[in-house]
Amino acid sequence: MKRTLLICGLCLGLVVNAQLLQEKSTFTRQDTLRGSITPEREWWDLTYYHLDIEVEPDEQFIKGVNTIQFKVLTPKKVLQIDLQEPMNITKVTQNEQTCAFKREGNAYFITLNTTKEQGALQTIKVYYQGHPRVAKMAPWDGGFSWKKDQNGKHFIATSCQGLGASVWWPNKDHMYDEVDSMLISVTHPKGLMNVSNGRLRSLEKAGEQVTSHWFVSNPINNYGVNVNIGDYVHFSEVYNGEKGPLDMDYWVLSYNLEKAKQQFKDAPKMMEAFEHWFGPYPFYEDSFKLVEVPYLGMEHQSSVTYGNQYKKGYLGRDLSGTGWGLKFDFIIIHEAGHEWFANNITNIDIADMWIHEGFTAYSENLFLDYYYGKKAAADYVIGTRKNIQNDKPIIGSYNVNQEGSSDMYYKGANMLHTLRQLVDDDDKWRTILRDLNSTFYHKTVSSKQIENFLSEATQMNLKPFFNQYLRSTEIPTLEYKIENGQLKFRYVNHVSGFDMPIKIEIDGTYKWIKPTAKWQTMPFSSQTLKVDRNFYINVTSV
Ligand SMILES: [Zn+2]
Repeated sequence: MKRTLLICGLCLGLVVNAQLLQEKSTFTRQDTLRGSITPEREWWDLTYYHLDIEVEPDEQFIKGVNTIQFKVLTPKKVLQIDLQEPMNITKVTQNEQTCAFKREGNAYFITLNTTKEQGALQTIKVYYQGHPRVAKMAPWDGGFSWKKDQNGKHFIATSCQGLGASVWWPNKDHMYDEVDSMLISVTHPKGLMNVSNGRLRSLEKAGEQVTSHWFVSNPINNYGVNVNIGDYVHFSEVYNGEKGPLDMDYWVLSYNLEKAKQQFKDAPKMMEAFEHWFGPYPFYEDSFKLVEVPYLGMEHQSSVTYGNQYKKGYLGRDLSGTGWGLKFDFIIIHEAGHEWFANNITNIDIADMWIHEGFTAYSENLFLDYYYGKKAAADYVIGTRKNIQNDKPIIGSYNVNQEGSSDMYYKGANMLHTLRQLVDDDDKWRTILRDLNSTFYHKTVSSKQIENFLSEATQMNLKPFFNQYLRSTEIPTLEYKIENGQLKFRYVNHVSGFDMPIKIEIDGTYKWIKPTAKWQTMPFSSQTLKVDRNFYINVTSV
């Protein structure tokens, strides 16, 4: 059986239905080396990267060096750095002295020449080069996209979610340890511009080459780091946000400038709505950017990439089928939503990727809620239920770099929409979402941490609720029977302990009932049962 590979822009996946990767039921040592916190990873904590590369577009070749600084947690000598085939590490140095290393597939085990005590900082330089994997279907099946624009000029971009940043640069390729800050230096032929994450520190011109230096002053996940090279023009604005003035910069192909000036009006609208719901944009120091790329888009931190063809919806389509999805540019709203869920709050293991995609798919309806009201928002998120497959659980396998079902998007969104109903207090719900972003500010977290936080914040035992929607493919079903002025009801298709209250219409208003696995009976004068559509359950008359 094959699975649909869905990444951020996804739903995308649902639309393209790209059958790209074999479903994995068994895992290899390479999967473990990639997906677990190995002994050669856990003894050191990343502090700084300086990735300095030269890109040769005509040769589709890159070479460079990553300077890796880290803090010693437990003094040891061998550390793991990842770089995927066919790329090669050519040399590793520590204090100008060469270090020995051994390759095992995509993992390199480097032996340091000198060790330091706990708490000390150490630095190594990792030199590498090669023809990086060419993206087959960016961003889902990523790597380097070597494209040309309409004028025949180079238009190059990286994308690597899931696959891993080690597809194009050497790093500690696991979500749990984000580097604290990073400098990205990219050299390429003149006449083009590179746009990476963070702020442009300087631009150097030397002969036929140009080098740009971009500095990211906040923690960043590996897959968020990106290189985008093209015939870019730039425009910008200052958004007065919750933390003060925020620079919003836009880099687009020269011939798309006028279109972009219209389309990107959704960007400050997005910022206003999401700061309202989630709290301040998490990377003021690094600015916010939209950068045009030759693929659909991705949530690259502080340089969200854009390729939605300047259309509303998802490439002009409404994923909800309600019309509301055409009120906004899907890629601007969805990918920027990831600044809060993926870049601010990051999953510690990709098995818990619903933290990224569930909340961000949910953010689409909160954007609508902010501008068009609660009914429009509900129409939209409920409309997206048609994309849910219930093929396998949302949470994937841990420690092997394996994400769960693509249902993390719209089932995740509908689970959160259902939770909003349970909270039944929109101010409180907004406070919870904002607290989530301040509590886990710039952190990597597990699903369990998010679940526990929400249980505490709502003062509800949500354990069965999350087990139902995240760890099972069953949709709880309300069975009912109306006879002799009585309503009989119970839940089937549920996990142990699932007893989620729902609202049903009684005498023209919605009132709470609390179904369980056992039949319950209550007086009921109507001939039909109307369950509040906002709860993601099935309802069957028996
Ligand atoms: Zn996404």
